[in-house]
Amino acid sequence: MIPFNKPYLHGRELVYIAQAVASGKISGDGSFTKKCHDFFEKRYGFAKALMTTSCTDALEMSALLLDIKEGDEVIVPAFTFVSSANAFVLRGAKLVFADSEKYNPNIDVEKLAALITARTRAIVVVHYAGVACDMDPILQLAQQHGIAVIEDAAQAIDSFYKGRPLGSLGEMGAFSFHETKNVIAGEGGLLTINNSSYSARAEIIREKGTNRSSFFRGEVDKYGWVDVGSSFLPSDIVSAYLYAQLENIDTIQSRRKEIWHRYNSHLANELPKYGISLPVIPEFATNNAHMFYIVCRDLEQRTKLIAGLKEKKIHAVFHYLSLHHSPYFLDKHDGRPLPNSDRFADCLLRLPLYYELTNEQCDQVCDAIVQNLAGQ
Ligand SMILES: *Cc1c(COP(=O)(O)O)cnc(C)c1O
Repeated sequence: MIPFNKPYLHGRELVYIAQAVASGKISGDGSFTKKCHDFFEKRYGFAKALMTTSCTDALEMSALLLDIKEGDEVIVPAFTFVSSANAFVLRGAKLVFADSEKYNPNIDVEKLAALITARTRAIVVVHYAGVACDMDPILQLAQQHGIAVIEDAAQAIDSFYKGRPLGSLGEMGAFSFHETKNVIAGEGGLLTINNSSYSARAEIIREKGTNRSSFFRGEVDKYGWVDVGSSFLPSDIVSAYLYAQLENIDTIQSRRKEIWHRYNSHLANELPKYGISLPVIPEFATNNAHMFYIVCRDLEQRTKLIAGLKEKKIHAVFHYLSLHHSPYFLDKHDGRPLPNSDRFADCLLRLPLYYELTNEQCDQVCDAIVQNLAGQ
């Protein structure tokens, strides 16, 4: 059986967890959480990095920090995970779904301007598969209209746009360390803040609306309830696991890229014969090898391919169903067709990709795909 994903230990995860336990402090903001914050701030230059319990929580924090209210509009791609949208719905926002580009699932920049109204407060961009959206025109448009850009960088660790780290470009960014991502902690996330005016309030919102963080730094002599908030900080056990992975991020990334390129070189000549396209990485973007996907000709071809691979004990999976067609949103959508989003929902297929996938397994997947297509 070749699973779609497999969580893994790189080496020192359990050692660091044992250290956290031995230190006598495993609640939030312990020594490993601080190490993670330092790592992210130093390596990627985020003004502030705050570990959260998930990317979903980081997105919810961003909506709280922007003071999103009932009646505000937020533009979100339809082809994304529910959390990119839910975080804003929880604050009462009206969602305006955007279509994907034709050539990749990222938000279509050219159609964005037409979605902006006087009520638009934020644009959520999702760097799908860790490949950057075209940020310069998006940021320019947002600036013209006084709108915040939030980066859902859940899949985008260690990836760049014109040399600038993803998660550092919008007002805020949200990363995930869910077991399906490149570096993992089981469940875990990170909020990055690039506009320092949000930093102090972010600490408060993350600590149940209290100024506990300032108290621990000795900046105030009592701590109390000063704002709204929730419990968004992870246990130090989560950070201990993550830190062991971060220390090895270069090894992890280079192995994932090897697998990605192995898929690409095996499939690039074969698949176009069957009307299937391979990922397109624009010149302004890097490839962090979060995902290797192919885009089938149609739903029928994809369904047969998934079934054929399953027979060979290979688990390949489709991805998002467009959110504007979801049971929750169906009757709230304004009716605009979003054809590219629908096409990726019907035709995109993700192949197994994880740190411990071997070259032989990768080749096995490629052979099984080509055989299945030849026989369809
Ligand atoms: C994984 C993912 C999330 C959610 O991350 P969690 O850490 O599980 O909350 C959000 N958005 C996108 C695009 C994702 O891929």
